[in-house]
Amino acid sequence: MGNRQLGRHPRSRYTHLLSSERHSNYTQHRPATFAIPVERPVKGCQSTTLACETCRTSLTYTVFSIPATRARRWAWLLATLAGAASVLLSVLTIHHLGEQNRSDPGGGMTGLLALGSVGGFIVAATGLSFWWHEDGVRGPGRLTGIGGHSIKR
Ligand SMILES: [Zn+2]
Repeated sequence: MGNRQLGRHPRSRYTHLLSSERHSNYTQHRPATFAIPVERPVKGCQSTTLACETCRTSLTYTVFSIPATRARRWAWLLATLAGAASVLLSVLTIHHLGEQNRSDPGGGMTGLLALGSVGGFIVAATGLSFWWHEDGVRGPGRLTGIGGHSIKR
């Protein structure tokens, strides 16, 4: 867990995408990465607008305090547990229904349960990944990126 320790400065860096080369079966991205020069606040959150080192585009990043970041990690962990519980319950119920009436495996119900297990798995996997990488930094990222800028966690 050493690499997830919350220091005075966020560990996440921002990246400016220099180029993307399309190869036959993958795309190679060449990013330039820079530290986010924001000191972690004692409480609440702190926003700053900086100019990208490469292209001078202004980018706004928000850094949360240690307690606020821990609260977010807890939320991701709870989402992970809820997703895992959904998988477990759905699988157990499907198994139970199957045992109960082999002749008539309740159609709609099984579909719903399958959704519960697949959806639960996706929620759990996403939650786990966010839990692991949560560093209390918000800003232009993969989804809201401006001109190829994102956060490297
Ligand atoms: Zn840039």
